[in-house]
Amino acid sequence: MTGATHRYIGRQYRLKILSGDLEGVVLRGGFLHVTAKRAGDAEVKRTLESWYRIRAREQFGKRLFQWADWCRRSGLPTPNLRIRVMSKRWGSACPDGTIQLSPELIRASSACIDYVIAHEVCHLKHPDHGPRFQSLLQSLCPNHVRLKAKLEQMD
Ligand SMILES: [Zn+2]
Repeated sequence: MTGATHRYIGRQYRLKILSGDLEGVVLRGGFLHVTAKRAGDAEVKRTLESWYRIRAREQFGKRLFQWADWCRRSGLPTPNLRIRVMSKRWGSACPDGTIQLSPELIRASSACIDYVIAHEVCHLKHPDHGPRFQSLLQSLCPNHVRLKAKLEQMD
């Protein structure tokens, strides 16, 4: 596993596995230093996944919070974040304000993450992808077509 590359907020990092009692992940230069008790693949994978999930909650939460005022002014419920693995999509939105985002989205660039969040926020107002949804998305995220394409190309 050492040497494998992993994306985090649009940048590639090379994995470096260290063994130690204090499990965790640290970004250093172009490296993701993963410390695990045993340097086995399963252990490293588990440590890495839990780190990605914590970072996803922190990053998405911060970004989603910036929509709280807009939602209130638009008469929409305060968005409430849930991190959930979804096989074929990046996110989903419920009329009660729940926005679910895939922890995998943390691999995408900052602009792409913001696009997905804007897209889901628009769904709080318009559940489908009709013309009213499109024009709202266009006004809130003018680069959405390019960002969606970028996201689809991400390996
Ligand atoms: Zn959608």
